[in-house]
Amino acid sequence: MRRAGILALQGDFEAHGRTLARLGAEPVFVRTAAELDAVDGLIIPGGESTTMLKLLRLEDLLEPLREFGRRKPIFGTCAGAILLATGVTHPEQESLALMDIDVERNAYGRQIDSRVARLSPEEEFAARTEPGDLEAVFIRAPIIRRVGGAARVLARFLDDPVLVEQGSHLVATFHPELTTDTRVHGLFLGKL
Ligand code: GLN
Repeated sequence: MRRAGILALQGDFEAHGRTLARLGAEPVFVRTAAELDAVDGLIIPGGESTTMLKLLRLEDLLEPLREFGRRKPIFGTCAGAILLATGVTHPEQESLALMDIDVERNAYGRQIDSRVARLSPEEEFAARTEPGDLEAVFIRAPIIRRVGGAARVLARFLDDPVLVEQGSHLVATFHPELTTDTRVHGLFLGKL
């Protein structure tokens, strides 16, 4: 079986682990470059992207991660999506630039920063997984402000893209690991 890794420096990596386990995949928690080498794909969880970036630099993992992403699939949720983006604003910060998208951090504002919404994903998502609405948990989520030509939007919330795929990479600005719906993770495992 292909090995699915989860970056476990900070954030809600354990929730991703439970979702993978529900899908019958054994999660591999990744904290070092050697552990990264041993997996076929990686989930970058939600959390705090600035802190994650700091820890990645501290552990000398930033460049290995960039290199990993040129060859293997990465799925980023929320802070993970921010790390995968090319442009990051509010405030600006460094990123892996593995997906041709730009994001604005904490873009829903303080009052409505966290909420649960029901989304109707694009037809393509249903065709490749199973039909049905998605329950999307947003926690101080970024907004994807630009989607480049090579990327495809699989779901939107209030017209903004919230689930985007580019080649073997996938980002969600919400947290599918916090619901019992395993379709988004299933889609990612299919890329490994
Ligand atoms: N607001 C966080 C950031 O900017 C992301 C929040 C999350 O991952 N739930 O990194």
